[in-house]
Amino acid sequence: MAFSDFDFLEKNFIHYAKEDTQSKYANKDQVPTTPNQVKMMKELADQVKDYDLESYYNEKTAFAIGHLAANTAGVAPIGFFAHVDTVEFDDRFPIRPQVHRDYQGQKLALDEANGIFLDPEEFPDLLTLKGQTLITSDGKTVLGTDDKAGVAGLLAALKYLHEHPEVEHGDIYVAFGPDEEIGLGGQRFDPADFPGVEFAYTLDNGRPGDFEYETFNASAADLTIKGTVVHPGEAYGLLVNATTIMTEFLAALPQDQVPEKSRGHEGFIMVTDAQSSVDSAHVGLIIRDFDWDEFLAKEDLVKKLVASLGEKYGPDRFQLDLRRQYENIYNGVKDRPYVVNLALDSYEKAGLAPNVQTFRGGTDGNFITKKGIPTPNLFNGGGNYHGRYEYVTVEQMDKLAEVLVTIADEHARQSKEGQDKRPLEKYW
Ligand SMILES: [Zn+2]
Repeated sequence: MAFSDFDFLEKNFIHYAKEDTQSKYANKDQVPTTPNQVKMMKELADQVKDYDLESYYNEKTAFAIGHLAANTAGVAPIGFFAHVDTVEFDDRFPIRPQVHRDYQGQKLALDEANGIFLDPEEFPDLLTLKGQTLITSDGKTVLGTDDKAGVAGLLAALKYLHEHPEVEHGDIYVAFGPDEEIGLGGQRFDPADFPGVEFAYTLDNGRPGDFEYETFNASAADLTIKGTVVHPGEAYGLLVNATTIMTEFLAALPQDQVPEKSRGHEGFIMVTDAQSSVDSAHVGLIIRDFDWDEFLAKEDLVKKLVASLGEKYGPDRFQLDLRRQYENIYNGVKDRPYVVNLALDSYEKAGLAPNVQTFRGGTDGNFITKKGIPTPNLFNGGGNYHGRYEYVTVEQMDKLAEVLVTIADEHARQSKEGQDKRPLEKYW
C-alpha cells in the first residue's frame, strides 16, 4: 500500500537520475568537484520551498540546506542527509531510466545488443520485488540509485509532512550534499548549517530495513626509509640498503590481519603500495578496525615497529606520516542508544524487519558524527549500486519516505512521553 505519492516519487527519481552528477576525484581541489552537482543542489533547494522549508545553498561547503520548522514544542532538532553525486563511471551519458511496471521477476534485457541482462538468477533479490514498479538504466550507464533514491525518498517525506500537518514534529534539517562517493562531501559539512541538531541519518545504500551505525575507524600511513648508497665493491660495513630494511618491516607486520583474511567485525593492516631502491623505500599502509582499542593498538604496532627499526638502523632513516581518515560512527552513538533505537522502532512501525549491518568502509556519517552530530545510515532501497545493473523500485523509495516520517513522528512522541532508554544491543 502506498504511503506517499508514487507518481511524485517516480517523477522526481527519474528527473534527478537523468542529471549527470558524477563526482570526480581528479578535481578534488574544486568545491564541489563537478558543476552539475551545484545545479542539482540549487534545484533541490528551490523545490523544498514548496513543502514549507526555508533553504539555501552554502557556497563554501557546497551543501544545499533546508529547514522545516517545528510544529510542536519540546522536540530536539534532527537532520537527514542525501547525496546528489553518483559514482564515476565511463562517460556514456545520457542516463536513460527505464520503468518496468508490475515487474514479475522476469529476466530483463537492458542492452540486448551488448548482452546486458538483469537476471534474477544472478541477482535473486529481484524476486522479492514482484508486482513493484522497477526502474533500471538502459544497461549503458549507472542508474544513480545511489543516492538519487535517497533524494527522492526524502522529498516524498517532506511533501507528506507538508500535506499532513497533523503529524507532529520538531525542527527538521535536511542536507543535499556533493562528493560523497569520493569521501570529500561529509568532510566539508559545516554543523552551523544544522543548528541544535542532536542527531541525523544518512539515506544511503541498503535494502529497506538495513541499518548501519558501525563502520571502520580508519587511518593511513606513509613510511619513508632512507638508505646509504656506497659502491658495492667498497660497501663492507658502510652500505645500508633501504630495500632490505623495507623487507624487514613488511615481514614484521601481522600476516593474518590483512583484508583477504578478515571479515565481519575483524580489522586489518593493508600494504597499499611499496617501492624501493638501495637509496630509499616507501611503504603505504591503511589501518582499519571497528573496535577503537584494537584500532589504536594497530596504529601503535606500526609506530613501534618503526621505532625498533630506528634503534637498529638509526632513527634518522625513518619518517612515518600517520594520519586519521575517519572514525567509527559507533564511537558517537555508543552513549546515545536512543539514536539507534528510535530508527529501529520506526522501522518496525513501518512494517520493516530491522537488519543491522556492520559496514566495512566509511560514509559521510563518519565525518558528520566526528563533528558532533551522531549520524548512522538508514537505506535508500535499490540494489547493485555503482554499476549498470543498478535498480530501485518506487515501493522501496516509498518505504524510505514512510520511515522518515515515522522517525519524525516517533521522535516527537517519545520526546514528550519519555525517550526510549534501552541500551544499545550488540549485533555481532
Ligand atoms: Zn551513496
